[in-house]
Amino acid sequence: MSLPLALVCPRCGSHGALSQFAFGCERCRADGAAINLVPFYAPDTFTREMMEQAQQTWERSLWQYRAFLPLGEGEEEVSLGEGETPLVPLRRFVTGINGELWLKNESCNPTWSHKDRAMTVAVSKARSWNVPVVVGASSGVI
Ligand SMILES: [Zn+2]
Repeated sequence: MSLPLALVCPRCGSHGALSQFAFGCERCRADGAAINLVPFYAPDTFTREMMEQAQQTWERSLWQYRAFLPLGEGEEEVSLGEGETPLVPLRRFVTGINGELWLKNESCNPTWSHKDRAMTVAVSKARSWNVPVVVGASSGVI
């Protein structure tokens, strides 16, 4: 089961079904603005119980949260094992504060970048739409 209800344009509010092929928002593109669509979730979609259930699966990657991602029934994941990167305590860097400091080590992702999380979802969606080519914009690490 996929929980997002639709893809929505954050600029104009247009929306379409998850299975609908889209190069972003058609209405905004007609206005000359290239706007990516974002998943829309019903209020109260995310409960603590659902997150705990997702974390109890055998999958040890971002895809253990598949139900929260915008892939529909039958759409396959394209993945190199993104996510589940470790939290590292930074005990030696913490002085004079009351608390703990942790680092999320995203360099443990397949291309050493936090961007892998978004790309596994984007490429999976592109594959389900039979998109022949995917281009990634990057500031140097992709
Ligand atoms: Zn729009």
